[in-house]
Amino acid sequence: MVPANTDEMMSFLNEGDEVATAGKPAWRVLIVDDEPDVHQATELALSGVLIEGRTVNFVHAYSAQEARTRLAEHDDLAVMLLDVVMETPDAGLQLVRYVREELGNHALRVILRTGQPGYAPEIDTIRNYDINDYKTKSELTRVRLFTSLTVAVRSYWQIHQLEANRRGLEMIVAASTDLSRPKGLRRFAEGIVTQLCALLSVPDEGVVCAAASPDETQNEAHPYILAAAGRYSEWIGLSLKSIPDPRVRIELEKSLSDRCHHFGQTTRLYFSAPGGISIAAFVDVDHQLSAIDLELLELFCSNIAVAFDNIVLLRRISDLAYEDSLLRLPNRNSFVARVDLRSAESDTLALIDIDGFADINSVLDQEFGDAVLKAVAQRLRQSFSPAVDVARIGSDVFGVLGPHGEVNATGIESVFSTPYEVAGEKLRLSATTGLLRLGDGPEKAVELLKNASVALKQAKSFNRGKALYFEAAHAASARARMQLLNRLRLAFSAERLFLVYQPLVELASGRVVGAEALLRWRTEQGDFIPPDTFIPLAEQSGLMVPIGDWVARSALQFQRQLADCGHAGLRMAVNVSHIQLREPDFVDKLAAAIHEFGTPPGMLEIELTESVAIDNIELIEQKLAAVRSAGIAISIDDFGTGYSSLNIVRQLNVDRLKIDRTFISGKESCEGDFSIAGIVLQLAAQLGLKTIAEGIETEEQRQRVLALGCTDGQGYLFAKPLACDEFIAYLQND
Ligand code: C2E
Ligand code: MG
Ligand code: MG
Repeated sequence: MVPANTDEMMSFLNEGDEVATAGKPAWRVLIVDDEPDVHQATELALSGVLIEGRTVNFVHAYSAQEARTRLAEHDDLAVMLLDVVMETPDAGLQLVRYVREELGNHALRVILRTGQPGYAPEIDTIRNYDINDYKTKSELTRVRLFTSLTVAVRSYWQIHQLEANRRGLEMIVAASTDLSRPKGLRRFAEGIVTQLCALLSVPDEGVVCAAASPDETQNEAHPYILAAAGRYSEWIGLSLKSIPDPRVRIELEKSLSDRCHHFGQTTRLYFSAPGGISIAAFVDVDHQLSAIDLELLELFCSNIAVAFDNIVLLRRISDLAYEDSLLRLPNRNSFVARVDLRSAESDTLALIDIDGFADINSVLDQEFGDAVLKAVAQRLRQSFSPAVDVARIGSDVFGVLGPHGEVNATGIESVFSTPYEVAGEKLRLSATTGLLRLGDGPEKAVELLKNASVALKQAKSFNRGKALYFEAAHAASARARMQLLNRLRLAFSAERLFLVYQPLVELASGRVVGAEALLRWRTEQGDFIPPDTFIPLAEQSGLMVPIGDWVARSALQFQRQLADCGHAGLRMAVNVSHIQLREPDFVDKLAAAIHEFGTPPGMLEIELTESVAIDNIELIEQKLAAVRSAGIAISIDDFGTGYSSLNIVRQLNVDRLKIDRTFISGKESCEGDFSIAGIVLQLAAQLGLKTIAEGIETEEQRQRVLALGCTDGQGYLFAKPLACDEFIAYLQND
């Protein structure tokens, strides 16, 4: 085994060699012997030797017991020179058993030494405990000791590398199920680096890779640690600037700035990967890496860098799926998930809808609308504690989820109690809210949201600007409305809607001067459903526009028919919903119908309710100007029941006020009190507006309003709303 000229093969550390071994860890050798002389002799014999270019560092233990402590202190012991007989005749063998069986350390090589040849262990023991070598102490001359140690160190290193390979492979396999996540990818990178280190014969900390991807602005790159292993594995993902080892950091930074390989005392490599990614690798070897090693590293680094980039992209996509990009709030998807997660009995769910947002958006511009939403989002976020979830779940609908104590009517109303500042403008906003106490309904988030939105709809119809809690009755009435709406749709398409006409009369003479077209719905069963019930439904569903178009055309057609049979000069009043007025082509459609039926100018009068006027005055003003220039007259219906001031009426430039029937035949007037009607008529006269009083049921009422200056009237005293042929007959009797 031992070469002839052993001195030639032994190499020693000369003074100049310090540089060569710098940075490389020494082999650690544990001497276990109860005779201090043996320690000294061994150390002396091996002083300054180099094995595979690395020095030897000794650790000493003077009993088997002490050896256990040393073993616990060092996890990188390569070889143990072990005395057999110490505290007990087989203390050494027991220690080997402990190392293999209890510590599970199979890499440490063991060279047994004994003073007495008689204590040679059995062959079986040597095999079972994986003992490398057995020598009597006298056999351990300097040369023999060196030879034994070299063989042991090499085999330790092989076992160590195999284990590193196995560990690396294990990590790769474990990570392979989870490569789409940062954690999985990190473990994968660590596994590969562990294997690479084994392949390159360097410690786990011997390879560190960094990458710099250009960011969205394509200028500033922020290098980060792409892959590392061993103790350095915790650096993966950290920014290069922040890693605590200046040597590695500086090498990597140099590589990224020089953009080329460098082979010196350590090796730094530079690769460029697809997508403009730059990669630097620090490899703790002083020799030129083989072309295959280089290729392997490059392939690995660029693949892993692209994978990291993909993960960043994936995360951005998933953020988009769960975040509202305008308001940077969670979106509906994410809110539903939150509700599912935390639907606790102590929580309340609120849906907050900004009143009149559609107008803000259309009258001002969308940019202003966005600014309003941002201001509300910010106020909502600030008004509630972090325990409360705030999300945007519709264009102008916010979802809020949190404890009853915070999420309640007062809490939400206070969010809108002070004016907002939007684009330098002071703006008063109001919102309508549907509230739902969790725990007293279905458990699924989608159901809970549905119930909260039933409460919201209910509030929008009857409690605008307020908050309303969900009640089961709401759901029932919402269902009933839904069914009614479906029936209305069917009725409209089956032409079961029809018009009746109520005469408009000149109060002084009793002469018929026109008609108001009133809509009727008779169901298949023959019941009548009042317009006050089904018109709001049509307005909420978008059905109002086609129905309204049909009403106007039918009324004009009837007016034409009347003119053709000798009753020309009758004006036709048609009710128009604010929903119709919002349509961009509203005036064009009416003008086309007027043209088609040859309606004389001023003989079509549209009746608008006062609520139209308060919506947003500038837009309405423009609309009505267009209506007038198409030769259509405008009347304000149900005047006196709404909020419009006469100022607004003047601004809108309407033709006629129609005094609501509650001031004529309703309870306001039952004691003969016509004071409101009187005031309205006086003001109308001052403004030069025409008038009509509706709901005239008695002769006395006719005389009273006539005396107050009203010219026209309508009511059961003259006629109820009549079918077409009845209306013609009525005219003939007139
Ligand atoms: P309105 O425009 O104020 O119509 C007058 C209502 O008063 C009609 O009720 C009419 O039948 C009723 N009326 C007439 N004379 C008297 C009377 O002497 N005493 C009493 N107590 N009532 C009288 P109707 O037909 O039920 O219509 C109710 C409302 O439905 C209308 O109020 C109008 O706002 C709306 N409406 C009816 N047809 C249409 C339509 O085609 N389009 C739109 N948008 N709304 C319509
Ligand atoms: Mg009317
Ligand atoms: Mg009316």
